[in-house]
Amino acid sequence: MIIVMKPGTSPKEIDRINQELSRPNLKIETSLGKHKVVIGLVGDTDDLNREQIQAISPWVETVLQIKKPFKRASLEFRHGEYSEVVVSTPNGNISFGKDAPLVNVAGPCSVESEQMIIDIAFQLKAAGAQFLRGGAYKPRTSPYAFQGHAELALEWLATARQETGLGIITEVMDTADIDIVAEVADVLQIGARNMQNFSLLKKVGAKGKPVLLKRGMSATIQEWLMAAEYILAAGNPNVILCERGIRTFDKQYTRNTYDISVIPVLRELTHLPIMLDPSHATGKSQYVASMALAAIAAGADALMIEVHLNPAKALSDGPQSLTPKQYEELIQEMAAISKAIGRLSQPSFISLEAIPEQESAPKFDCIPA
Ligand code: PEP
Ligand code: MN
Repeated sequence: MIIVMKPGTSPKEIDRINQELSRPNLKIETSLGKHKVVIGLVGDTDDLNREQIQAISPWVETVLQIKKPFKRASLEFRHGEYSEVVVSTPNGNISFGKDAPLVNVAGPCSVESEQMIIDIAFQLKAAGAQFLRGGAYKPRTSPYAFQGHAELALEWLATARQETGLGIITEVMDTADIDIVAEVADVLQIGARNMQNFSLLKKVGAKGKPVLLKRGMSATIQEWLMAAEYILAAGNPNVILCERGIRTFDKQYTRNTYDISVIPVLRELTHLPIMLDPSHATGKSQYVASMALAAIAAGADALMIEVHLNPAKALSDGPQSLTPKQYEELIQEMAAISKAIGRLSQPSFISLEAIPEQESAPKFDCIPA
C-alpha cells in the first residue's frame, strides 16, 4: 500500500502520519521523489483501509494498493517516479537512471595482473568509460578453470581506481567476502549464478553499497525482481538490474539469448535502473557492438562490456571480449545513439558536437529520426 502526499506536505506532518500508522509487522518507508513524497507501507495492512488513512491527514492525496509481489521494486511503490542510483567514484558522482546520462562500464572478465588492469583502466577511461569492471572472484563452471586472483586482484583494482579515478564494479560470491570486496568496489556485483542466493542478497542489502544484480540465466522477470526485493527489503535502495542473456533451447551460435525485451517490460514494472550486458548475452565479440547499440535505442541506462588487451590470451571469456580499440569505436557509436534518442551525455564525455558528423554517425543506416 502507498500513500501519496500532496505537494508541499511538511516533514513534520509526514512524521506525524508515520507515527499514527506505526504498528508491529508493518514497515513504513518514505520516498522523497523529485516531485512528490510517497509513504510506502509493507507488511500487515489488514487493519487499515483507504478511508481510515485518508482521514488521518488533509495532506493525503491518494492511497493505493500494490498488487505486485515485488512491493518495493515496483514502479507503483514510487507512484511512477523512476529512481536514480547515485554512485560516488573518485571522478565524481555517477547517476544510473532513466533520466540520467548513459553509463559505460567496461573491463576484462577477470583481473589477471596489476599491470593488465592498470593499462586497460587508462585506455577505458580515455575511451569514455565511467566504471572499470573485472572479477577478482570468478564463478566458473569447472573447479579446474581459473578462479580469480581474489584478494590480490582486489588490491590491483584499488590501485587502478586510485590511478584513474574510475569507479569499480566487481563480483562478490560469498557472504564472507562482502567486507573486503566493499572496501574496493563502488558497486557490488551479484552474478547470474547467485541471483537467488538469498543469504548473500540479504547481506549485501544490509551493507548499503550500491548493488548490480545480474539476472539468473534461467530466472523469470518476476523471480529477478523478487531477488531485487530482498536487497531493497534489507534497507538498500541502490539496486541496478543487469540483463546478461538467458538460457533458451539454442546455444549453437550464441552463448545465451539476449532478452532485450526486458527493457520496456522492466520500465513498466519497476523504478530501478537497467543495465545490459551484451558480452555474456551473445558470447561472441562480433555480436557485441550491434547488441549494445540496440540496447541503447531500446532505452538501457547503462552498458557493461567486456574488454581485454589481448582477447585471444584472456584467462576467461576471451571470445566475447572487445579490444580497447573496438571499445573506443563502439563508445562513439553508443554516444551517437544516445544523442539520437535524446539521452544526455556524461559531462566528462567528449562532446559529439566536436566530432564531424560523418565520423560520429553510427555504422548502420537505421537511426531513429
Ligand atoms: C561476469 O560479469 O564476468 C560474470 C561472471 O557474469 P554473469 O554472472 O552474468 O555470468
Ligand atoms: Mn565474464
